Amino acid sequence: MNTDHVTYSAFTGWVDPPADVQGQLEADLDCRVAVIGGGINGMSTALRLVERGQDVVLLEAEFCGHGSSSRNAGQLAGAPGGDIQLLNLLSRKKMPGMMRLAERAAHHVEDFIAKHDIDCEYEATGNAFAAVSRGQMGRVRRVAKIVTRAGGHVEVGTAAELGIPRSFVGGMREVVGGRMNPGRFSLGMRQVLLDSSARVFEQTKVTDVTREAGRVVLTTPQGRVRADRVVMATNAFAGEWNITPKHLSVPIYVIEVETEPIAPDRLAALGWTSGMGLVTQHAIMENYRLTPRNTIVFGVRRLERGTSYPLPEKVPDPGLVEELAGAFATRFPSLADVKVQRAWGGWIAITSSWLPVAGQVSDDIYYSIACNGHGLAQAPYVGTLIADAIVDGHRHEDLETLWQDKPKFPAPMMMGRLGLRMIWAVDRFNDSVNGSRRNARRGAPLVEPTS
Ligand SMILES: Cc1cc2nc3c(=O)[nH]c(=O)nc-3n(C[C@H](O)[C@H](O)[C@H](O)COP(=O)(O)OP(=O)(O)OC[C@H]3O[C@@H](n4cnc5c(N)ncnc54)[C@H](O)[C@@H]3O)c2cc1C
Repeated sequence: MNTDHVTYSAFTGWVDPPADVQGQLEADLDCRVAVIGGGINGMSTALRLVERGQDVVLLEAEFCGHGSSSRNAGQLAGAPGGDIQLLNLLSRKKMPGMMRLAERAAHHVEDFIAKHDIDCEYEATGNAFAAVSRGQMGRVRRVAKIVTRAGGHVEVGTAAELGIPRSFVGGMREVVGGRMNPGRFSLGMRQVLLDSSARVFEQTKVTDVTREAGRVVLTTPQGRVRADRVVMATNAFAGEWNITPKHLSVPIYVIEVETEPIAPDRLAALGWTSGMGLVTQHAIMENYRLTPRNTIVFGVRRLERGTSYPLPEKVPDPGLVEELAGAFATRFPSLADVKVQRAWGGWIAITSSWLPVAGQVSDDIYYSIACNGHGLAQAPYVGTLIADAIVDGHRHEDLETLWQDKPKFPAPMMMGRLGLRMIWAVDRFNDSVNGSRRNARRGAPLVEPTS
């Protein structure tokens, strides 16, 4: 696969930045609730609050949708993120609640798109846990049992039965969810927010959170906001403040790349009739999805730990783009000559449980970190539930599922550079064993696989 002419973007490949970026805060304001961060999480929180009659100010460092909300793969998941077998082992009693939350979150986003008529190319295709080997297929079957027992809606089948490319062994279809253009979704949500009664300030980075006369004070370069309640919806950037609970999450940079447009007959020959987005069953997944512009967007495979704040604006490492291109050629051998056209990446927050979390730092400061690679569905839903909790004074059962009574978190394991490198190496070792077995079955000589 040719990676000679890749355009590297520091934003996203899905959309251009908005032309009407709002002005920064240049005054001192009072409000009932202030939301920090204008991703799909913070925007949903603000929108629900104004819907419930609250006086809301939202402060966003760049423009709403600038973060991972516009940069993700656009796969709206209907199952929890993380390692489901491990989650089941550690938190079996929580599984039904997590399944319910995941499916309701996806439906919540679908309803939002329909209600506001957001043109984001959404298609309710479902998504598949796709197996690249028999070993991964065994894992898929075990996961399917756990998910079904927890009340989730999934179907297991061969590649032909699921309508996914025949180079995969088979997989598990999450019936709920689908795929979209996440850039259009985020900027569509931004427009709904700008049309609402919320006061939105972009290019306004909150630099300090303090308390004065019983109220929370947010400091920004040109003005301050005094609020009765504050919601921190800053995703991977939460660690920039000392009020953030220790070990709340780890900032991780992940990337997506996009092929050049591919001839429709070549795409049709893949047998990808369902159009479902795919995630492999590696410890660090690869994802693949079709787009309406006849390209394939794919990514992740390697996690890059952010080591210091503020997190830098980054473009993907060409070495990783090269590696992803190699993996693509293995998964889609008939498209090995296709060129990579674009690459971009973003910061996500990984929690130690690999599940979304929400809670309170104090009576008047809430946090909501609904991410771990599944925030496209979960971040807007959790944001809405947080808003309801602020207004109603009690929590919906789905918010209760992920609520942290005390802001105390264990140190994340294997999330240092060395740990992440080791996880990556285990995935590559398994790929190499599977590649050798595949070749042996075909009667070919045992050669090193390309991935
Ligand atoms: C490459 C990639 C692929 C992904 N693929 C998927 C996928 O297919 N499916 C899925 O479900 N999820 C996916 N995700 C994860 C998903 O995108 C995120 O979980 C989700 O967008 C989180 O939304 P958010 O609003 O919490 O965060 P963000 O969109 O990151 O928003 C946080 C906002 O806070 C602002 N901010 C930060 N600090 C401050 C401050 N001090 N003052 C003011 N504003 C501040 C930032 O500028 C930013 O706009 C992916 C993520 C990436 C990066």
